[in-house]
Amino acid sequence: MHRRVVLLSPELGLITATAYGVRKSGAKLSALCQPFVSGRFYLYANHAKQQFKIEDIKAERFHESLNRDLSTLYAGSFFAELIVRSYAGGNEHRAMYDLLLGLLDAIEVGDDLQFLLIQGCWRFLILLGLAPDVEYCVSCGKPLENGSGTLHFTDNGLWCQQCLAQHDTARQLSVDQRRYLHHTQDLDLGKALKVKLTPERAVHLKRVLIHYIDHATDGNLKTVRSGLL
Ligand SMILES: [Zn+2]
Repeated sequence: MHRRVVLLSPELGLITATAYGVRKSGAKLSALCQPFVSGRFYLYANHAKQQFKIEDIKAERFHESLNRDLSTLYAGSFFAELIVRSYAGGNEHRAMYDLLLGLLDAIEVGDDLQFLLIQGCWRFLILLGLAPDVEYCVSCGKPLENGSGTLHFTDNGLWCQQCLAQHDTARQLSVDQRRYLHHTQDLDLGKALKVKLTPERAVHLKRVLIHYIDHATDGNLKTVRSGLL
């Protein structure tokens, strides 16, 4: 009869709350108590028991077209899962909230999902303080310049061709992929999504970043295991 939901608040971070009776037919909040709804949530707090009850919702955005197909649904779910797994980025609640809303809005208007996933992963990594330096080798400290770099998961950085004897192309970032990340990271999300790589390079970069962020959040992200991203 009830639904337990996780809310991301720009002020308070992650909150688990219960919406009582929303599964009953005709319940007032049942249409509003859905994934990806953003707006103002009115909660009753029992601080002694650390419990929150949803009393009312003034929805602002529904993002309902995320349900239009599996790929958009899984992209939105992946970002939501990342936030839950990273505890909303420690104290970066506002930045996490703005990033998530920006990404959900971009999925809603039909932006290219490959680039959305790349930008989403890269911006989450920056917020979490886990983004690798894309200009210098993490092992020897020399600039990568026109060479490629290979992501080293435990060093949280890229290794140059001299430092890494064995090349693993699945983790290798080409010079254009490195420059793309460096160039787009300070742009607004909307502007960054207009910068393009070739489709093959984009798919490869997306896979590398998803694999890396899965590792950085201790793995086992369900949306990654689904194989639908
Ligand atoms: Zn090196």
